[in-house]
Amino acid sequence: MSSDVDRDLEAELERPEAGEHGVPVDAVCTGCRRVTVKRAPADEPNPEFVASFRHVCRKCRKVTWWNVVAIFRGLVDDEEEGDE
Ligand SMILES: [Zn+2]
Repeated sequence: MSSDVDRDLEAELERPEAGEHGVPVDAVCTGCRRVTVKRAPADEPNPEFVASFRHVCRKCRKVTWWNVVAIFRGLVDDEEEGDE
């Protein structure tokens, strides 16, 4: 089985399928079990508690549920802060 050690998280985050807005997270597709970096919708005041969200999966070729595995703090600059 392949290891996740050599993954390029920043490159995954740059992919269009990761989404444009939200909190960078490591997420697993409930459909195909693929793990990749996504931007979880940051609707919640405390993104730490976002456990799952709906997002498009290129492998499943549809919108699926994704379970958050980890949240990546510091992976991106806080460029969206203070946008009120
Ligand atoms: Zn999938």
